Amino acid sequence: MIVVKTKEEIELMREAALVVSKTLGEVAKAVKPGVTSLELDKIAEECIRDQGAIPGFLGLYDFPNTLCMSPNSQVVHGIPNDTPLVEGDIISIDCGAIKNDFYGDHAYTFAIGEIAPETQKLLDVTKESLYVGIREFKLGNRVGDVGFAIQKHCEAHGYGVVRELVGHGLGRKMHEDPEMPNYGKRGRGKKFVEGMVVAIEPMINLGTHRIKQHRDGWTITTLDGKPSAHFEHDVAIVDGKPELLSTFAYIYDALGIESNEEDEFRNKALVL
Ligand code: MG
Ligand code: MG
Repeated sequence: MIVVKTKEEIELMREAALVVSKTLGEVAKAVKPGVTSLELDKIAEECIRDQGAIPGFLGLYDFPNTLCMSPNSQVVHGIPNDTPLVEGDIISIDCGAIKNDFYGDHAYTFAIGEIAPETQKLLDVTKESLYVGIREFKLGNRVGDVGFAIQKHCEAHGYGVVRELVGHGLGRKMHEDPEMPNYGKRGRGKKFVEGMVVAIEPMINLGTHRIKQHRDGWTITTLDGKPSAHFEHDVAIVDGKPELLSTFAYIYDALGIESNEEDEFRNKALVL
């Protein structure tokens, strides 16, 4: 069952999305060679609690930490540990928080120093595919339209689109209906309606789309050991159009990256 949100509830959810956006911004300041994912996890937990919010992943389905930290060939759901990050690594960091009784859910794949050009390209294309998908999240479209757009964009570069893990509706629960696969067929699946809020989150592999689960019961890695990228935004349908609730602006501020991708997205969304 899809739980649509009122405009007031969407404003409350925007605050939850802001908590996770700001938290990944704080984490971004510390993402560099030598830091461990456990240290980053601590920064995130403090930052979330300082904002009067609650870590959303900690204890959810018994997950042991605040952040999912998935380096290199790990796709998602990696558990923070005390291994220092090294130059050339990438790490996908996924952050959840509860504020105003609503969840925010947000992810970004960071480069540690200089990374291989082919890995940088994977990051760039995966992030592009996030916006390509979000653009299809509008009144009258269907779940398959978002998945089709993401899949087409990524497979054009020869990348593998993970099948087993998907985006999802978001609200008072972390995972609400509908499931939002990053693959699909145009015009198929549930129809989008005003007030829907979803987390769109392409998980894209440099090589095969196939994955395996680690014996810890959590960590998902690519079957061929090649890198994987993950970017996630929270998006609502407002006045028929997709509206970003989360923002990478805090990450870009921390990293000194000039980016107007979200403004560009909004300008295009206005003329949908
Ligand atoms: Mg997430
Ligand atoms: Mg999610």
